[in-house]
Amino acid sequence: MRYISTRGGGAPLPFQETVLTGLARDGGLFLPETVPDVTDKLAQWRSMGFVDLACAVTELFIGDIPAADLKRLVTTSYASFRHVEVTPVVEVGPLHIVELFHGPTLAFKDVALQFLGNLFEYVLQQRGGELNIVAATSGDTGSAAIHGVRGRERMRIFVMHPDGRVSPVQERQMTTVLDDNVYNLAVSGTFDDCQQIVKDLFNDLSWRDAYHLGAVNSINWARVLAQIVYYFYAAFRVMDKTGAKRVSFAVPTGNFGDIFAGYMASRMGLPIERLILATNENDILTRFFTTGSYAAAEVVPTLSPSMDIQVASNFERYLYYRAGGDAAVVRGQMEGFASERQIKVDVGSDGVDRLIKASRGDTAATLATIRSFHQDYGYLLDPHTAVGVYAGEQHLDAAVPMICLATAHPAKFSEAITRATGEDLAHHPLLDGLGELPTRLRRVSASKEAVAAIVEEVVGK
Ligand SMILES: *Cc1c(COP(=O)(O)O)cnc(C)c1O
Repeated sequence: MRYISTRGGGAPLPFQETVLTGLARDGGLFLPETVPDVTDKLAQWRSMGFVDLACAVTELFIGDIPAADLKRLVTTSYASFRHVEVTPVVEVGPLHIVELFHGPTLAFKDVALQFLGNLFEYVLQQRGGELNIVAATSGDTGSAAIHGVRGRERMRIFVMHPDGRVSPVQERQMTTVLDDNVYNLAVSGTFDDCQQIVKDLFNDLSWRDAYHLGAVNSINWARVLAQIVYYFYAAFRVMDKTGAKRVSFAVPTGNFGDIFAGYMASRMGLPIERLILATNENDILTRFFTTGSYAAAEVVPTLSPSMDIQVASNFERYLYYRAGGDAAVVRGQMEGFASERQIKVDVGSDGVDRLIKASRGDTAATLATIRSFHQDYGYLLDPHTAVGVYAGEQHLDAAVPMICLATAHPAKFSEAITRATGEDLAHHPLLDGLGELPTRLRRVSASKEAVAAIVEEVVGK
């Protein structure tokens, strides 16, 4: 498979090159040249375990990694999960919940970042060279990326978080990792400052090349790819259990990464009736899918901080397919958004999109959903998952099972659980033990130069 930019620039790249490049040089995002139709494979895939299914799905999009090597990469990636099924599905009340939080940092981002860490290492072994990953985090991405890359050959990771502004648990999940190739940078500024520094470093093309910069956020195609797998896995389990021929998914959304993987699964031929996009008060995507207008607003902090995003980086990939693969249209829309902070599309008789419907779950809805699922079913939802479950409940259809994606373990957000239920119920031994461990971090001012100086010092140029 080869990959093209959503903005049409550059020659198509093979898979390994695409993964190392991260963001296309014309500022666009990578997409496969064609989307494989797997309709005639579904029957055979249905009986596969997670690892075999992951190999079958991902191999269609790769082409430059031999099957035996891919099998080893995938097996190693998911051996770190604490559940034999990797992403098990449980039935809770009127819904099915696919638990994506059994990885090392208890958030769904492990599914993709465990794979990406192994993939980077493999590609660097094949091609030589090294990679210096620079990332910004408001919480979950940083720890999942660090756990994907720690202790690996030929790569270092520099993760910036806003000093004192991530939760104590999230900070410790990062700073207690003492491997030599892990650098935690506490930036005296906001998350936006951190993200801006990453962008500035990537846009300095000669510096980017000299220091072999790599990207781990969800603009990297390999993350989307790894996430496609669990849509198939969960759909098969629920079809087996209920006899249904089609399923719907409810997906708590921030950067449009996770739900975009579901959109790809649908394009490949998985019988998905609806994708329910769920946002918190930061609802630019809900507004888009209900009115056709994508207009940025101020970010407000909520109980589901990993969804406190207004400009969704993967949305551009959706726009590309929506425009029928016309990169010139996408370029125009993205330029329009850069100047006017708005994109408008026509609303048809099926709404903005026949497949994707959206709902917004605010703080009150989040707390009420956590409370009622605990009371009625004895099941604890983390606040991100609760937003998804709330949205899923707004779109129930007796004929089509609804599968909600559980994106974090409730213990990662135990304060929200306490606030909702009145009891301190959400614990996990992995997190409870973090308080006693030694930590390491470096403080740095919020400037590109200060961060670049640390990278230069470490890399030794
Ligand atoms: C990152 C994250 C999300 C949002 O995922 P996107 O791919 O950005 O849409 C939702 N829930 C949790 C717990 C997360 O860490």
